[in-house]
Amino acid sequence: MADKISVLFTEEQVCARIKEMGEQISKDYEGKSLHLVGILKGATFFACELAKRITVPVTLDFMSVSSYGDSTVSSGIVKINKDLDEPIEGLDVLVVEDIVDTGNTLSYLLDNLQKRGSASVKLCTLLNKPERRLKEVDVDYTGFIIPDEFVVGYGLDYAQKYRNLPYIGIVETK
Ligand code: 5GP
Repeated sequence: MADKISVLFTEEQVCARIKEMGEQISKDYEGKSLHLVGILKGATFFACELAKRITVPVTLDFMSVSSYGDSTVSSGIVKINKDLDEPIEGLDVLVVEDIVDTGNTLSYLLDNLQKRGSASVKLCTLLNKPERRLKEVDVDYTGFIIPDEFVVGYGLDYAQKYRNLPYIGIVETK
């Protein structure tokens, strides 16, 4: 049976918010170049859309990490499946993530990237679930703060499905 998905943010709302974020980031990094690090696979749609809305020079790299455990519960132990293609020494890095939930993944990742000699490392996430936080993470740019619900679409999956939905929805599991 198909899962029931209710719309949380429409495609128009998501695109409008990403445009605003791009404008803010462009202002903040005026006169600099920005190295975007998208986290596979969830942040790909967001990273590409955001990159198009940034007016300072942008370079792009991707990293793939996973936390041990099943797909809906974060264990806190993070594994790098695919590292960056290029070194980040001296660069202003902006990590682009789909969602910050417990904070386990990002707290590990930011710590890991900060040790690589970059000029700066900041974090930009499309969605943020502060209620669920277990580890403190400094989020520099948040698209939307959301309640404790399991969301899909715009890159986010449920058992690898629904990443291609152009909107963000809540999977109704009850
Ligand atoms: P963390 O708990 O470490 O902050 O989040 C790790 C990862 O869990 C996120 O990058 C994302 O892939 C996944 N995740 C957390 N909450 C959700 C959610 O509501 N929906 C989906 N599809 N993935 C989520």
